[in-house]
Amino acid sequence: MTKRIAIFGSTGSIGTQALQVIAANADKFTAEILTAHTNETLLIKQALQFNPNIVVIADDSKYAKVKEALAGTPIKVFAGEKALEEVAAMNCYDLMLAAIVGYAGLKPTLQALDNGKPVALANKETLVVAGDIVMQKALEKKVPLIPVDSEHSAIFQCLVGEGRNKIEKIILTASGGPFLGKKPNFLVNVKRDHALQHPNWSMGAKISVDSATLMNKGLEMIEAKWLFNLQPDQIQVLVHPQSIIHSLVQFEDGSMKAQMGLPDMKLPIQYALAFPHRIPNDFPRYDFKKPATLTFEDPDMKTFRNLSLAINALYKGGNMPCILNAANEIAVFAFLRNRIGFLDMTDLVERTMDKIQFIANPTLEQYYESDGEARNFAASLIQM
Ligand code: NAD
Ligand code: MG
Repeated sequence: MTKRIAIFGSTGSIGTQALQVIAANADKFTAEILTAHTNETLLIKQALQFNPNIVVIADDSKYAKVKEALAGTPIKVFAGEKALEEVAAMNCYDLMLAAIVGYAGLKPTLQALDNGKPVALANKETLVVAGDIVMQKALEKKVPLIPVDSEHSAIFQCLVGEGRNKIEKIILTASGGPFLGKKPNFLVNVKRDHALQHPNWSMGAKISVDSATLMNKGLEMIEAKWLFNLQPDQIQVLVHPQSIIHSLVQFEDGSMKAQMGLPDMKLPIQYALAFPHRIPNDFPRYDFKKPATLTFEDPDMKTFRNLSLAINALYKGGNMPCILNAANEIAVFAFLRNRIGFLDMTDLVERTMDKIQFIANPTLEQYYESDGEARNFAASLIQM
């Protein structure tokens, strides 16, 4: 029996790597659903190669082109944002890989959980925006939520077999990004292309910028809080530029477990698709001599203030992480279009967090509203 995988965001960095894993394990996995935002050319190419049951192009102006290209095949074509949710509610797949970037991934993922489908979660923003509601849904439907983010996959792997043993704390490692050691006088002049050059990982544009500002690590702290049911003060960040230790768990007895390997997202993707099994592969192995030295340091939160803003949101709870995320999505988008500078992103997020009304226990509807209000306010700051 093969596991039928629905890849939401198949044209992205995670999505394309997942398809490599599926292609290498055709006896174990099939790609049942593929979805893309605007890249119809790649979606069509993937569909012709993997022969899924369904494809969705979220940008409906591209529908005719996809439909025409797949006309001679049995592949069903849907279009529009609503179609993502409708397809997530179908029964033809066994596991969703949630690999859409940003807030746009929330509704299809919630729909998959509501549909009783296990989710391999790459889209961290889903938990940042509405972590309580997403985790509650997974619990209620008794379906696993398996992390794909490398740090969270590491922690998840360290917890296998630990039953009810208590976690004292977790340590999320961070590469430090392309500007490790730099100061504001340097960062003020940083441009898009430089920020997109990550030293260890090749990723989509949004997460690459988040890694450069350390917002990514802040989002991951919030993601970890929900996934592993932790208090904020149980989550520590440690800069480890070689990205060999993907994260650690410290238990009540002081014992620490780490998960290690070369930085390659195909490994956590494969682990999540095959969970609870491990399957062989030919990915390069870490041999302890290359690199031979593993180093660790504290993050510079005075320079990379996005991390301290995210920690404030983590402690504050309620809709504050949702507000942080929405403002950050607007800020990163504007930075990628050279509309604002690198350090302006932090100001935009901070001012939005100060402005939007705090709600301690939001409903899902209130999360949607907070997201919209925060986006509008952040965007208004850019237009001035
Ligand atoms: P990406 O930008 O390369 O790909 C994003 C995918 O989402 C594409 O398929 C795109 O078509 C789709 N998409 C974007 N906006 C959409 C919208 N509005 N509606 C529908 N579909 C939309 O991003 P990525 O680097 O693959 O990251 C995906 C997610 O995984 C992010 O949440 C990221 O934080 C997380 N993640 C990525 C990595 C990595 O190595 N790339 C590592 C850990 C976590
Ligand atoms: Mg990560």
